Amino acid sequence: MKFDLDPEYLEYQHAARELAQSIEDIAFEADAMNEIHPGILSALQKSGISSMMVPARYGGLFEEIDPLAICVTREVFMGVSSHLDSLFALQGIGSYAITAAGSEEQRAKWLPAVAKAEILPALALTEPEAGSDLKAVTTKVTSDGDGLLLNGVKSFISNAGSAGFYLVFVRDDSGHSIVLVPADTEGVSITPTDELIAPHVLGDVTFDNVRLPKSAYVGEPGKGLDLVLATLSIFRVSVAGAAVGLAQAALEEAVRHTRMRKQFGRPLAKLGPVAHMLADSWTEIEMARLLTYRAASMAQSDPAKSIEYSSMAKLAASEMASRVVDRCVQMMGRFGLVKGSKIERLYRQARPMRIYEGSSEILRMGIARELTRIVP
Ligand SMILES: Cc1cc2nc3c(=O)[nH]c(=O)nc-3n(C[C@H](O)[C@H](O)[C@H](O)COP(=O)(O)OP(=O)(O)OC[C@H]3O[C@@H](n4cnc5c(N)ncnc54)[C@H](O)[C@@H]3O)c2cc1C
Repeated sequence: MKFDLDPEYLEYQHAARELAQSIEDIAFEADAMNEIHPGILSALQKSGISSMMVPARYGGLFEEIDPLAICVTREVFMGVSSHLDSLFALQGIGSYAITAAGSEEQRAKWLPAVAKAEILPALALTEPEAGSDLKAVTTKVTSDGDGLLLNGVKSFISNAGSAGFYLVFVRDDSGHSIVLVPADTEGVSITPTDELIAPHVLGDVTFDNVRLPKSAYVGEPGKGLDLVLATLSIFRVSVAGAAVGLAQAALEEAVRHTRMRKQFGRPLAKLGPVAHMLADSWTEIEMARLLTYRAASMAQSDPAKSIEYSSMAKLAASEMASRVVDRCVQMMGRFGLVKGSKIERLYRQARPMRIYEGSSEILRMGIARELTRIVP
C-alpha cells in the first residue's frame, strides 16, 4: 500500500497550480461575481484542463473520467478561487449524464465543446419545493404529438444564464427522467436567485411550454434517478477535494499570521492554545485528504459501489473545512474578520459545501443505511 500520488497525478496538480497562479490577481473579483468572469473562463479554456471532464472519444483527456484527477485539481483550484473551482466542476457535473447514457448524437454534438469549455453545461435538479427530497420534483414532461412538452421551475441552478444547455430532472409517465434542453429553446427563461454569502453563478430556470423532440431524453425515460446517482458517484468526492483545498489555504493564512504576530512577547503560534489549534487543523486536513484520495481511487474503479465512501469523504471534508476555517479566523483575531481578506472569503465559501451535492444530514442517513445493511 502506498499513500503518495502517482507521478501523473502530480502532473495534474502542477498544471492546476499553474492555472490557479495565473488567475490569482483576479480571484477576489471573480469570487464576488454572480456571473461568469470572462478572464477566468478564458484561462480555463486556454489551459485545456476541462478536457478531464469528458471521455477521450469526445475530445477528453482520459478514456474514462478519473475522479482522483478531478479531486486533485479541485483541491488546488478551491484554495485560490471558488469561481474557478465551480466553473471547472460544472463542466463534469453538468454533462456527465450525456457521457453515461446520452445518444451518440447528443454526445457528438455537446461533449467536444464541453471538453474545451466552449459550452457550459448545467444540471437542473432542485426546485422551489424540492431540495433534498429530489423525488418530489414537479417539473413535468408530457407527450405533445410527435414530441414532448416541458413545464416547471428549477431553482438555484449553477451556470444558469450562461449555460449552453440544461440537463433537466423531470417527472413523466415513466417516473423520473432527464431531458436535454438547449438554452436557446423557446420558453426557457432565467431569473437571478438571491445573492449568497459566498457568491456563485446561480439562477432559477423556468420552462414554459417548452417543446422538445423525443430525442431530448438522455438515456431511457424512467432512468433519471439512476443518472443522477451515476453523476454523484463520480463527482461527489470531488467536493471533498475542494473542501480539503479550502481548509489548506485557510490554514496557510493562519500559519503566516500567527508566525509573525506577537502577543505577550511571543509569536501567537507558540502560545499553547493557538499552537493546539494549528496542530488540530493540520491533523484534520491530513485525515480528510487521505479519505478523499481513497474514496476517489475507489470511485475510479467502481463508482456505483463506492458511493458511500464518496459520501463519507464529502461529509468529513466539508465539516472539517468549516471547523478549520473557523479556527483560523479565531487564531487571526480581529484581522480574520476583515471584509475582503482571503480568510474572510474562505470562511464564507466553506459554508455552502455542507449543503450542496448532498447535505451533511442526508449523507449521514445514506452512510448509516449502508452500514446497517453490510454488518453481518
Ligand atoms: C452554491 C449552490 C449551488 C447549487 N447548485 C445547484 C445546481 O447546479 N443544480 C441543482 O439542481 N441544485 C443546486 N443547488 C441546490 C442544492 O442542491 C440544494 O440546496 C440541496 O439539495 C439542499 O436542498 P435545500 O437547500 O432545498 O434544503 P432542504 O432539502 O430544504 O433541507 C434543509 C435542511 O433540512 C435537512 N433535511 C432535509 N431532509 C432531511 C431528512 N430527511 N432528514 C434529516 N434532515 C433533513 C437538510 O440536511 C438541511 O439541513 C445549489 C445550492 C447551492 C447552495
